[in-house]
Amino acid sequence: MNIIPCIAVNVKRDNDKSGPRKEKGMKYTLIRSQRRTLALEIRPDGSLVVRSPLYTPLREIDALVSEKRDWIERCRRLALERAEKRPQPTEEDEARCRALAREKLPGLIERYAPLVGAYPAGVTVTGAASRFGSCSAKNRVCFSWRLFLYPMECAEYVVVHELCHILHHDHSPAFWREVARVMPDYERRQRILRGLE
Ligand SMILES: [Zn+2]
Repeated sequence: MNIIPCIAVNVKRDNDKSGPRKEKGMKYTLIRSQRRTLALEIRPDGSLVVRSPLYTPLREIDALVSEKRDWIERCRRLALERAEKRPQPTEEDEARCRALAREKLPGLIERYAPLVGAYPAGVTVTGAASRFGSCSAKNRVCFSWRLFLYPMECAEYVVVHELCHILHHDHSPAFWREVARVMPDYERRQRILRGLE
């Protein structure tokens, strides 16, 4: 789950910013943020995301993408195979999940916000396919109705995850410590969402 929207960065060269890029025929989305290392990530739809520190030169990023080409293609194939196997939710599923989201979210927030010690500025249900939840810079939290295709214990985890982002707008060790404090078994719930259990 990728929660924090990328930080828009003004840099002098206008091609050197977050956004879609292409290296030797390989398309990827570059997301620059205040992090220390480069990371490659294959999304469930098979697309490639490169996370980069704010000022890593593009040639360094492109070199990494080139170097990891085999790995990227292998992961992409796996992601696409997995996506094909996953049944697509029907319109009835969506209606059912949206109703469930509306019914359950207020109670979940009420239950976990005091434990986290953070209250959202607002709650919205979205149709996002690539993320189950998000938290804006203004501390509005969003949840995808698709989250409610999973057992309720997964919705509980994503609620805790997004509430913890109100305290830590990143995935730093401090953020994960907070998640673990409120929900010690969160990793098990994460695995269910990732289709690993
Ligand atoms: Zn997150």
